[in-house]
Amino acid sequence: MTIQEIKQGLEKRKFSAKEIAKSYIDRIKELDTKTQAFLTIQEDEALKEADIIDRKLAKGEKIGVLGGVPVAVKDNICTRGIKTTCASKILEDFVPPYNATAIEKLKEAGAIIVGKTNLDEFAMGSSTENSYFQKTRNPWDLSRVPGGSSGGAAASIAAGFVPLSYGSDTGGSIRQPAAFCGAVGLKPTYGLVSRYGLIAFASSLDQIGPITKTVKDCAIGLSAIQGTDKMDSTSVQKEIERDYLTDIEGDIRGLKIGVPKEFFMDGLDSEISKSVKEAIVRFEKMGAEIEEFSLPINRSGLSAYYIISSAEASSNLARYDGVRYGFRAEEFDGIEDLMVKTRNQGFGNEVKRRIMLGTYVLSSGYYDAYYKKAMQYRKKIRASFKEAFEKYDFILGPTSPVLPFKIGEKTNNPMEMYLADVYTVNINLAGLPAISIPCGFSESELPIGMQLIGDYFSEKKLFKAAFAIEQDLKIWDKAPKFEEGR
Ligand code: GLN
Repeated sequence: MTIQEIKQGLEKRKFSAKEIAKSYIDRIKELDTKTQAFLTIQEDEALKEADIIDRKLAKGEKIGVLGGVPVAVKDNICTRGIKTTCASKILEDFVPPYNATAIEKLKEAGAIIVGKTNLDEFAMGSSTENSYFQKTRNPWDLSRVPGGSSGGAAASIAAGFVPLSYGSDTGGSIRQPAAFCGAVGLKPTYGLVSRYGLIAFASSLDQIGPITKTVKDCAIGLSAIQGTDKMDSTSVQKEIERDYLTDIEGDIRGLKIGVPKEFFMDGLDSEISKSVKEAIVRFEKMGAEIEEFSLPINRSGLSAYYIISSAEASSNLARYDGVRYGFRAEEFDGIEDLMVKTRNQGFGNEVKRRIMLGTYVLSSGYYDAYYKKAMQYRKKIRASFKEAFEKYDFILGPTSPVLPFKIGEKTNNPMEMYLADVYTVNINLAGLPAISIPCGFSESELPIGMQLIGDYFSEKKLFKAAFAIEQDLKIWDKAPKFEEGR
């Protein structure tokens, strides 16, 4: 069901919030043995919260925009009293004493949190294979990855485990798994959603955002968590749009869409290229004006992203030292050895690789050659987008250059894994909003996603265009079969 269907059903008493929560949790218990999307399931708590919603309904009280809606949350977003592991051994038993602001807002909105979803350790990866605990599988083909790092959150949408899940996006981790799983995923404008309680990977890039089956649900999911927060000084300080649904069905005639030719060059899968180009034609038929242009970003975006994100990660992850909280090595000889052994045993290979890369690019002698250059590139990329948005309402292209790949296919080649982010990382470097929407399927029935990029705080317009193409394509209710091997 969609969020709106659940809400209408609750209001008309077709079913109770408890029945809804129970049926979604039963489905998770039955089918997640196949997908492994969840790290924690919160059955008792969820049913209790649903009960509260039912009592409110019985008394005719307001239940909030997400009242009674089952929600899943990526396991790098702090939930009070519920384990928050970042899919890392180093936080295996960490139970936060506080909620992330986004979680507080979800609770105020009446959402029922049913569980925490799997991710690449500390959100570093593009396939969810870097989790310390388990490998999540793509419900469209269980032998393939769901994308990453929010792979559990995206798979839980494809699998129908929840109508709404939340992920985090530092370089594509909401959009790319959404594309791989045939879901809608939004990376909001930097600052629109508070990062307080989102365990930091790269603070200047991280944003929490919704993943859903439909565009309207995505809009509802964003409105529930956004807004200024005194706990996050980078959160938005101005008046923001609150109502994304009014006019979402309006027509899109006259909207100007720029298509960068660099997005369709070498390395792009031919089926993805074809599918995105077909969507462009559909936009044109609906009255949008399409223009090809040159956005001088190429693979240097990837280099800049991996330098900047790793630099920030190396600093952010310094806090896991075996002293303050989390895992501690059992045997050690003195404080320094304690830290070395704890970090050596507690972090996985990809996290260690990023910490090493990050400390290297920040070290004296290399700072100017790498970090400073990457920051200069970052400035340039912002300017290029700014120029583009003087002409266009949106920029459109593929979300990922590749289809969901086989589990294990890229784990031995980090560079190839990094290439999967080529269309998403620049958006984070610039701080812009972007939405990934399903636009078709490959011959082997694997989902394909396209990405609409908007100017700062243009989420409302993004949803409108995304809704238009979703209605035109009519593929949103297609469901995966949980089969193996295509
Ligand atoms: N795949 C990218 C990385 O590994 C993006 C991760 C993210 O957005 N959290 O860094």
